[in-house]
Amino acid sequence: MGKVLIIGAGGVGTVVAHKVAQNSDVFTEIMLASRTKAKCDAIAEAIGGNKIKTAQVDADNVDELIALFRSFQPELVINVALPYQDLTIMDACLACGVNYLDTANYEPLDEAKFEYKWQWAYQDRFKKAGLTAILGCGFDPGVTGVYTAYAAKHHFDEIHYLDIVDCNAGDHGKAFATNFNPEINIREVTQKGKYWENGKWITTEPHEIHKPLTYPNIGPKESYLIYHEELESLTKNFPTIKRARFWMTFGQEYLTHLRVIQNIGMARIDPIMYNGVEIVPIQFLKAVLPNPGELGENYTGETSIGCRIRGIKDGKEKTYYVYNNCSHHAAYEETGAQGVSYTTGVPAMIGALMFMKGLWRKPGVYNVEEFDPDPFMTALNEQGLPWHEQVNIDLEL
Ligand code: NDP
Repeated sequence: MGKVLIIGAGGVGTVVAHKVAQNSDVFTEIMLASRTKAKCDAIAEAIGGNKIKTAQVDADNVDELIALFRSFQPELVINVALPYQDLTIMDACLACGVNYLDTANYEPLDEAKFEYKWQWAYQDRFKKAGLTAILGCGFDPGVTGVYTAYAAKHHFDEIHYLDIVDCNAGDHGKAFATNFNPEINIREVTQKGKYWENGKWITTEPHEIHKPLTYPNIGPKESYLIYHEELESLTKNFPTIKRARFWMTFGQEYLTHLRVIQNIGMARIDPIMYNGVEIVPIQFLKAVLPNPGELGENYTGETSIGCRIRGIKDGKEKTYYVYNNCSHHAAYEETGAQGVSYTTGVPAMIGALMFMKGLWRKPGVYNVEEFDPDPFMTALNEQGLPWHEQVNIDLEL
């Protein structure tokens, strides 16, 4: 049915490549391209069957991207490189008439600030070109937006309170490791907290607000209020929301390491001189930390991510909790990657599937919650991320 180009061969790219190859009735030609071609080749070999072509590309370079797009002629690009490459890949898509999907919004390299404004600014250009751009199609952002859209469509007349809860109760056996790209992860979790209340953003100190929340099949885990990018689009697209927050669990050991990393300057994102060479401390740190894509082998436990929602249905208050639990080990058995890469890569593939089947296709730049959630929710059950729901329970929030 369609030709797809995946850019990025990390943990998430590994999962996307596996899942796209599993759906070869829809994805008839597949290419995996990244900065280091050897990583693409290793993934293609693990999948086998000559299903995946590979290529080298520097996705910071629009001309290189254009040359690759012209030679392979994909219908859709799945961008699972880093957020820094979002705009160059979107520019190349516009130049070559290619549709676009990603899992993380653009942030400038020299400022840890993620906002949709840079990508939303492409709206008119994508519309005029008749091209679709699907933004933030991982788990969070991604499935959390689809869950919210599904709740709004089937369970509520008005959503008033939204709490996205993200628990990783896994154990990878390392003293400190991040579950996705360390640079992006550390930039994200060391930011100030921020949530939406009564029409404005409230800022908190990093990790200032926290409480234990109970996760299905896991139990209580200390959960910290942090800012997360889907809050920006969800509060815009569901204006009845009075308060929207995002909670993530962190272990004490992780937080202690993080504090030390910050205190000794290793989380700095500005270049420093070292022995006459310019280095960025956080990029150096990434080079010595475990590779998130290789944590899978001994990873036990599971993730649990969902939306806890309170609102009004037929004049009565209602609560609703929709979530998925994902086993790190099962993810590893299927794809060779751990649960966080899996919960990101599977939805990216499903978004691409929605596009290829013509179910999520409209010229312009859209967040996932602006499409019909129903076929996506069905596909989640079929593709390895089944969801569960609970109605009128105590949300703890
Ligand atoms: P990794 O660091 O493991 O992989 C990133 C890949 O992108 C690497 O293969 C890297 O190449 C490649 N890359 C980096 N820069 C370039 C470039 N200039 N040109 C070409 N390729 C490049 O990250 P993850 O797989 O863990 O994460 C991928 C994306 O998924 C990130 O954007 C992350 O923010 C997002 N994400 C989204 C989540 C969600 O739920 N929405 C959750 C988790 C992650 P090389 O191998 O040479 O370094």
